[in-house]
Amino acid sequence: MSDNPDLTAFKAALDGIRFHDSQKHLAARSHDYFWYSPILNDQLKDKIGDLLVVPQSVEEVMQVASLIAKYKLPLTLRGGGTGNYGQCVPMNGGVIMDLTRLDKVLEITKGHVRVQAGARISRLDDAAHETGQELLMYPSTRQMATIGGFLAGGSGGIGSLRHGMLRDPGNVSYVKIITVEEDPQVIELHGGDIQKVQHAFGTNGIMVELGLALTPKTDWIHTAALFDGYDRALNFATKAQKDGMDCYLLTAVERRFASYYTKFGDLFPADRDAIFAMVAPDEMDRFTAEAKAQGGRVSFAMTKEKIREAGLQPAYECGWNHTTLQALKVDPGWTYLQVAYPRPFDVDVVMRQMARYGDDIFWHHEMARQDGDIQIFALPLVRYRGKDEMYRLIAELEQTDGCTIFDPHVITIEDGGMKEIDTAQIDFKKRADPYGLMNPGKTRGWTDDMARRDDQHQQGETA
Ligand SMILES: Cc1cc2nc3c(=O)[nH]c(=O)nc-3n(C[C@H](O)[C@H](O)[C@H](O)COP(=O)(O)OP(=O)(O)OC[C@H]3O[C@@H](n4cnc5c(N)ncnc54)[C@H](O)[C@@H]3O)c2cc1C
Repeated sequence: MSDNPDLTAFKAALDGIRFHDSQKHLAARSHDYFWYSPILNDQLKDKIGDLLVVPQSVEEVMQVASLIAKYKLPLTLRGGGTGNYGQCVPMNGGVIMDLTRLDKVLEITKGHVRVQAGARISRLDDAAHETGQELLMYPSTRQMATIGGFLAGGSGGIGSLRHGMLRDPGNVSYVKIITVEEDPQVIELHGGDIQKVQHAFGTNGIMVELGLALTPKTDWIHTAALFDGYDRALNFATKAQKDGMDCYLLTAVERRFASYYTKFGDLFPADRDAIFAMVAPDEMDRFTAEAKAQGGRVSFAMTKEKIREAGLQPAYECGWNHTTLQALKVDPGWTYLQVAYPRPFDVDVVMRQMARYGDDIFWHHEMARQDGDIQIFALPLVRYRGKDEMYRLIAELEQTDGCTIFDPHVITIEDGGMKEIDTAQIDFKKRADPYGLMNPGKTRGWTDDMARRDDQHQQGETA
């Protein structure tokens, strides 16, 4: 526990709001999945917050926001803690706010849900199912991640094949934000303004509520098709997507992953490349026939309930960043990259990459949509050979193959996906976090001289 007097005063002022300051609680809530990256692991493994607060209501969130502004303490927000880039690691200690008690599904109507930001995505999707609807997309961490953490830290995932990425228009209808000021304000963002806080890593306001589009529910069949050749698997998946086959997930996973997918045994043998998929029941015949046309065969096809009964993972835990997790559990010598391919996608680029990197990279590819177009991503496993070699590889993938790399070995928004400072997000931060207290160190766009000084503010108010 820090001996900072402001922290002591903050704690005393919490007035019944739940908090924890034991090392056990703080250690458990100061980390996320940054350890996928040896570079981030070195940088972040010893970072720890000083106090964990767990507000039970929006009113308590506002009280905490007010006290944070009063005592000028660093504040790091946390949902499920499943981010990959140390997004909820408190770089400068201070207060961690766990938002998972803000978990109410407020209202479900036709095509829409209003929900508190700390709700677990699985609970939210299950609630939508009860009304015959489902979420447009979720990360493969559906089970643990919160919807607010997804909007602030994620990008898309399962369902993106059908509905695009999270930031595509219409997917999120509004977000309600609490500002970090002594007199916290509630701001509601709609339409394009939502981008001011989307993927902003909790640096510019506390999301407490959001609205999301829903779609009619489908009882997706969790299935895999096996192919003799990764090019055949990719050709099958890209054709299925182009032909508009109704799938919620199409993930190509090459055969060298088979030894990590231990539960699947002969259903994913080491001599075949796989497509893991979630397919509409009335499309299964077409899925089977198309797989056959590419020389493949369906290995299994089950409802989600049957998959669970069989002791297997659902298909959505066989793709996106769960693939990396499966491998890291067995062999910690791996790390990974996030790759976006140039459009239109060319399978030959992948085949050349496989030949070029041999056993240093294992490949899997995600079919998605972005801005209405087909967009293919990969999250390849990369054998870690030091930081210099990692950046040589990144440069080669960008220059030789025209790929875009979303660097998962850095902690700032700009160095990772965005590549440049998003001035709209920074302008919004001046309003929502005027003292620059939120998740310090996670945006290069914010500089200390931007912080409001109380004397300036008071002069401004009286002027
Ligand atoms: C195995 C694995 C698979 C993954 N697969 C995917 C995937 O398919 N797609 C994908 O996009 N991501 C994926 N991720 C990354 C991550 O799981 C998702 O982005 C997830 O949605 C984050 O939710 P969370 O609640 O865990 O957020 P956290 O990790 O708790 O937080 C993420 C960021 O959001 C901020 N934040 C949290 N709550 C709020 C709030 N209420 N208001 C403002 N800011 C807030 C935090 O400060 C932090 O910066 C994966 C990660 C792992 C480990």
